[in-house]
Amino acid sequence: MKKILLVNPPVYDFAAYDLWAKPLGLLYLSSLLKQQNINVMFFDYTDRHSPLLSREEKSNKYGCGHYIREEIQKPEVIKNIKRKFYRFGIPSDIAEKAFRQIDTPDIIIINSIMTYWYPGIKEIAAILKSIFPNTPRILGGIYATLCEEHAKSLEDITDIASGSLSSLNKIFAKYNIPASINNEFNYFPAPDYSFYNKLEYIAIRMSLGCPFNCTYCAQKYLNNKSYTSKTSDIIADEIYNLTGNGNIKNIAFYDDALLYKPNTGIKPLLKQFIRDHNFFHFHTPNGLHAKFLDLELAELMFNAKFINPRFSLESSDYKEQKNSDSKISNTEFAKSMKYLNAAGYKQGEYTAYLLIGIPGQNISAIKDSIHFVNDLGAKISLSEYTPIPHTKNWDNINNTYTEEPLCQNNTYFISQSKEYDKILDIKKLAKDLNNKL
Ligand code: SF4
Repeated sequence: MKKILLVNPPVYDFAAYDLWAKPLGLLYLSSLLKQQNINVMFFDYTDRHSPLLSREEKSNKYGCGHYIREEIQKPEVIKNIKRKFYRFGIPSDIAEKAFRQIDTPDIIIINSIMTYWYPGIKEIAAILKSIFPNTPRILGGIYATLCEEHAKSLEDITDIASGSLSSLNKIFAKYNIPASINNEFNYFPAPDYSFYNKLEYIAIRMSLGCPFNCTYCAQKYLNNKSYTSKTSDIIADEIYNLTGNGNIKNIAFYDDALLYKPNTGIKPLLKQFIRDHNFFHFHTPNGLHAKFLDLELAELMFNAKFINPRFSLESSDYKEQKNSDSKISNTEFAKSMKYLNAAGYKQGEYTAYLLIGIPGQNISAIKDSIHFVNDLGAKISLSEYTPIPHTKNWDNINNTYTEEPLCQNNTYFISQSKEYDKILDIKKLAKDLNNKL
């Protein structure tokens, strides 16, 4: 039986927090491989509850918390930022010891997420090469797809799987692995959480893709421009099975468009949970589309216990809303927030995402957006813009940022803004208004 080792690397950044963060793509891949009789081994450097750690970082009541971290030297290109830089995740000596105790895999597949987290990949590729010198080390995931050429320059990576999971098929053929991935998300099995010793939440997707095409978002490129969804029956089964029929209470949806086509998707799912009296806590770290909310859906979300649902507005400025593919107008957004109130959500129990730090963005428009959202009783969550390859905005980004992924770090990028002081004032304004809700 062929053996594949799947690895989720540590994070190198100024800040990181486990906000229901799981390497979901890798977990789906594990299930797909097991279905084909592949022996899967797994190592997640960001597992906060790994038995390899001598102490656990505490979690909040919804299962989120800080990672174990160590301060490290800032990479040269971002050294002028006056903030500490960290490596988050299981220490390398502990991981290395664990790798030395497993059988030699036939291939190793390494996950990647943020483009500017590639130093974590470099670290582990070198370790894995030293332990398993004859085993190919394949890099897949978001960074490998968005920055393929840069990823090819990483010394200890042997192959790149750029694109969706089916891009691994050519790698499997090359290394005689008897497996093949069908890209249709609706045929994917449930993600494989069997490797985790302790789970306080599960992350899951009902759908893959999004019908919109915002100028700053790469989801179309990452998802082959398609949108596919599983049925509510399948998702309900997956959630019941993965949580041991409700033993794990927290469910984080990773969908980009969870509320899209609600009458055949999210509504029947929530009706089933309410009917079964099986109350989870649902979380939506990716923004929801307020456009698809009606009173019935708001009530279902409230009764099924969607905690602090987060909605993407990005801006209340009409011109900026065009960059968001006109996914919502102010009138629609205000109406949706009223539905939330009518359903039972109090002021401050729901959040609106606003985007800050886009080059050329009008500062007074951000302030207007903040006041607009606050007047509607929503907490403000400011998302710092980062330039992302293969987005419509990318062509307008200065070469400094496009050539070196470390410069795409949100903390670094926003600090280079000529209006950085004003942005800091805006952050304070949002914090003060949130505290008053
Ligand atoms: S709505 Fe969200 S997921 Fe969809 S394209 Fe825009 S930013 Fe991306």
